[in-house]
Amino acid sequence: MKAEIETNLKTARNYVSGKWIDPEHHSMLAVENPSTGEVFAQVPLSIETEANRAVDVAHEAFKSWSVVAASRRVQPLFKLAHLINENENRIARAIAEELGKSLPDSMAEVKRMHENCQAACGMPILQQGDKLIGAGGGIDGEVLHLPLGVFCMIAPFNFPGMVPFWFLPYALASGNTFVIKPSEQVPMTMQMVAELIDESGFPPGVFNLVNGDRVVGEAFMAHPKVVGVSIVGSSTTARHVASTCATNGKRFQALGGAKNHLVAMPDANIDAMIANMLTSCFGCAGQRCMASSVLVGVGEETYNLVTEKFVQAATEVRMGDPLDPQFANDPLVMGPVVSAKAKQRILDLIEQGVNEGANLLVDGRNLESPDRCSNGHFIAPTIFNEVTPNMTIHKTEIFGPVVCIMKADSIEEAIEIVNDHEYGNGASIYTQNGYHARKFKLEAQAGMIGINVGIPAPVAHLPFGGMKGSIFSDVKVQGKEVVNFYTEKKIITERYWDPSEI
Ligand code: NAD
Repeated sequence: MKAEIETNLKTARNYVSGKWIDPEHHSMLAVENPSTGEVFAQVPLSIETEANRAVDVAHEAFKSWSVVAASRRVQPLFKLAHLINENENRIARAIAEELGKSLPDSMAEVKRMHENCQAACGMPILQQGDKLIGAGGGIDGEVLHLPLGVFCMIAPFNFPGMVPFWFLPYALASGNTFVIKPSEQVPMTMQMVAELIDESGFPPGVFNLVNGDRVVGEAFMAHPKVVGVSIVGSSTTARHVASTCATNGKRFQALGGAKNHLVAMPDANIDAMIANMLTSCFGCAGQRCMASSVLVGVGEETYNLVTEKFVQAATEVRMGDPLDPQFANDPLVMGPVVSAKAKQRILDLIEQGVNEGANLLVDGRNLESPDRCSNGHFIAPTIFNEVTPNMTIHKTEIFGPVVCIMKADSIEEAIEIVNDHEYGNGASIYTQNGYHARKFKLEAQAGMIGINVGIPAPVAHLPFGGMKGSIFSDVKVQGKEVVNFYTEKKIITERYWDPSEI
């Protein structure tokens, strides 16, 4: 972390009222390429006043944006979807540069941004209300979905492009205005995306971007003109945002951490399952909220088979800088974790796993640095078996390429392992047996269930969100239900007298 401004570095800017500005900041943070350790940009951590200014601007812009016809409001979004498509390679490279995610993975992220824009373009239909003719004698009932005002979003580091698009297209299409705070660890992707938003033709003040850390997030929650706040981050942060918003009378969506289990039944299609597990566990170096980090083999034989085949398959993962041209199309390249701090935390947890008696089958700690990456933050695939539910490595979201393999004697015990866990984001079962699949989808306490699918992340047209300690709001993101978050349901009861009787 650096406090001073380096004049030769690209510097992130805020985007407020349709203009790029250099904000007043309490410090300047270096933005590093985690593959090489090279500092390639810097981000100002804005002071509270900058966040307040953006909210005030958005509040003013709401007055005219909220009354633009629904079909016209989505026109800039159609353009944005097109621009995202046209610039997908650039955006994917920006993600790979600041996060170290593989290019195929980064590209998948960009596709999901595009998909969310398209889904939100359906707002003129999604936002339609209801009418009941004859709610009473000569009385009709009507439900309106009206935009509310300024919504803010606080983003996590692991999807610098996609996660903001769970929110901003829907907020804007439904007639609200929006202020985003990207993660201070990966602010540069949204710089590029905000340039495209600028080109899309939204009126000034409708979309705004404020760089910063928690100071900006806290300012959003304290501002009286903010109607709602969306947070995606660790459970500690999500819980804090949820409770602060509840206290301050704001709407909130609050998605937190995860620890996702994949359950292998004896009748699973073993080779397809192992290939699936590999990408689920090691994609983005395990830093996906839908990444699996626990494999549960049901029965001794399945447990042994999963252990043997998964350990073997992990040798196929190649480590390197995703921007190294040799890895451009390699779905099995694994980049670094996001920072030196994240790496140290993961190494400490691996050590704790060893100390608590788990069996370290594959140790990714002493990796020789890949080419050009001597200062990168790499950890190779790390696999434990003989893991029990109460071990720290099972209870904690490690958020790195560290996998626990566990044994269950029955499907009931496997479901119990899933259900006893604090988190409940995603969980999958591998089986050809419909009875077991049905039991799992009904009984496993996770918000997103996969049947023979390792990353059951729903597409943009469906809701996305977990259960238990993975979410602190009753509303999820994406899908048609998001309209309820971004609009006030106003219910009208009306009647008119017959003029001839007055
Ligand atoms: P984080 O909680 O450290 O930070 C998230 C964001 O919150 C950042 O922008 C940060 O500046 C801001 N923030 C931190 N403290 C704040 C405060 N007191 N008030 C307001 N804002 C505050 O999370 P991270 O490390 O950036 O992201 C990784 C986490 O996000 C993991 O736990 C992962 O599981 C989770 N995540 C969850 C989902 C999901 O769908 N559930 C999706 C992506 C990431």
